[in-house]
Amino acid sequence: MRHHLAGAAACALAIFNAQAADPQRAAWVTAERIRHADTEPQNWLITGHDYSDQRFSPLKSINDGNVGQLHLAWYYDLDTHRGQEATPVVVDGVMYSTSAWSKVQAFEAATGRLLWQFDPHVPGSIAIHVCCDLVNRGVAVWMGRLYVATLDGRLISLDAQTGKPLWSVATTDPTRPYAITGAPLATGGRIIIGNAGAEYGVRGYVSAYDALTGKLLWRFYTVPGDPAKGFENEALARAAKTWSGEWWKDGGGGTVWNSLSYDPELDLVYFGTGNGSPWGRKPGEGSKGDSLYAASILALHAASGAYAWHYQTTPADEWDYDSDQTVALATLNIAGKARKVLMQANKNGFFYVLDRATGELLSAKNFVPVNWASGVDPKTGRPQVLPQARYAYTGGLWVGSPGGLGAHNWMPASFSPATGLEYIPAQELPFPFLTDKEFKPVELGVNMAIDLAATSLPQDPKTKAQVLAGLKGYLLAWDPVAQREVWRVTYRGPWNGGLLSTAGNLVFQGSAAGEFAAYRASDGRKLWSFAAQTGVVAAPMTFAVGAKQYVTVLAGWGGAFPLVAGELSFKSGRQVNRSRVLTFALEGTAQLPAASPLSEPRLAAPSVPPEPTLAAEGAKQYALRCGSCHGDAAVSGGLVPDLRYSAALVNDALWKAVVEDGAHEANGMVSFKPEATHAQLEAVRAFLIQRAQQSALAARAAKAR
Ligand code: CA
Repeated sequence: MRHHLAGAAACALAIFNAQAADPQRAAWVTAERIRHADTEPQNWLITGHDYSDQRFSPLKSINDGNVGQLHLAWYYDLDTHRGQEATPVVVDGVMYSTSAWSKVQAFEAATGRLLWQFDPHVPGSIAIHVCCDLVNRGVAVWMGRLYVATLDGRLISLDAQTGKPLWSVATTDPTRPYAITGAPLATGGRIIIGNAGAEYGVRGYVSAYDALTGKLLWRFYTVPGDPAKGFENEALARAAKTWSGEWWKDGGGGTVWNSLSYDPELDLVYFGTGNGSPWGRKPGEGSKGDSLYAASILALHAASGAYAWHYQTTPADEWDYDSDQTVALATLNIAGKARKVLMQANKNGFFYVLDRATGELLSAKNFVPVNWASGVDPKTGRPQVLPQARYAYTGGLWVGSPGGLGAHNWMPASFSPATGLEYIPAQELPFPFLTDKEFKPVELGVNMAIDLAATSLPQDPKTKAQVLAGLKGYLLAWDPVAQREVWRVTYRGPWNGGLLSTAGNLVFQGSAAGEFAAYRASDGRKLWSFAAQTGVVAAPMTFAVGAKQYVTVLAGWGGAFPLVAGELSFKSGRQVNRSRVLTFALEGTAQLPAASPLSEPRLAAPSVPPEPTLAAEGAKQYALRCGSCHGDAAVSGGLVPDLRYSAALVNDALWKAVVEDGAHEANGMVSFKPEATHAQLEAVRAFLIQRAQQSALAARAAKAR
């Protein structure tokens, strides 16, 4: 028996060594390769380029001298028409990417020839539990395998050569409103993944799985659970002291829904956490203390998942100031000393530089105008919150900057060691906050204790004007040592794409208005641009095949802004979704087909005005259950049907089929019957008819002018 086991072990070792010694195998990415990613600049091995998540490439054959000659080399039309947020990975001439609905593609990187596509068949009903579009941000690659996390919470391992699944594990409880949009991170033989859902009342965590078997290795919850069940570790016992009331009944939030970064020398994994759940509560209802570790940056020991340190960017968050933005690692010269730092342009408007070994705050400065805090106290590391910003305590409506969509949302920033600058997709997007005094958690809809109906903009023309005037979007080049702006490029409005910087003294960014452009990294001068025919939100990447350098970006308008902001989203440039992979090279000769013009819905408004009190109740129900996809005040940002022009408004059978019986569940429109009463849904219909009539009047008035 002993002999047999020893033989098996020796055999396993031999297989392992044979595999490790065979670099010719497809997608044979190891920790060593990722650690030394700069020695193989032709590849882009993980979504953030390397473990530091700097999104900087040492390639420079495309540079500030010749980028004007950049042309489309190939494009591929994706088969999903929602936001595209993935950054592809390229390993040895093969590109691996993902698209909406968690689909995975492999392309020949130089030509765009599709090698295979994998569809995890995510059920359409998940859409109701996804706050911010049906997006996916990319794959992890590890020793011949790919890893994708799906909207419905699965982590799936695929054979990189064939796209065939090898294993699949449920990383979340399918009965709870979890979702996953982020890319997994491969460190050693571990695949680490978080999840989303703090807007719907879940408890956030990150998990590590064995890359070969899918076995759960460790899990770290970011917020404490029910004290009666005991805390999982000391860090959570300490965190529990900063909560009050019965927070665990509403999940607690603190979800890890975006990218992770990793320091192989310290063996620490870094990530940010989202808002506590729910947010905007009345005083004494769960957010009396700091609500750790929500709205924080955390470091965990990668081997064990044990807590290393935390830094809370927004204690007792009431504004949806998730801290899930890109966490970039770099060595900066600060006060004459080389410091290993971590940097983040936070949703709350402050740029943080922390010592990444200890979590010590080195500096923090606002990179956009903010009105919720006067600064960050360098001694305590805490924000100096202005009293008027605590709207839950004052009880009044307060227009906060940044608003809930943040000064920097999920779009990746990029740090260039060549210029020493961080390139930030910055925005100004104020939001009216008002506590919902009658807040009750709902299953189908958003669980934010703010009065969404009262803050719906057309209800209040003065606030609407204030918010509209404040909408801005720009590419910001930021000096993280001096904590100051170096240059900016202004866009039409917010919600522009993620960043790539290169050793060719270039920065690439797509815009909400559908332009993909290259800027000189040192001074921001625009050197080249391309009409992408749709808003670009994803971050570009670059690679080479042979001596030829390519730049790739996924085009495809989407995300929270066009879903929730309604009419406001038009400020950035009204877009339709055309989902494509676009790849550029200096000798490119491809051309996009001509785009058909945007067609306006023309259905006439119903003639009979609804009963005003019914429509008012409908406005509340709409804001709670419908507005996070169909847009503020029932104005669609272009991704989902505009309900003001729905044929169902005056067709009882169609209305019942879609809203009560879930006829369009495969597209994400579930039945609301289990959750809302028939009367509540009829009130929604009355509100939509009112909005259709108001919009028709406004259109006639505009025409008359
Ligand atoms: Ca959030």
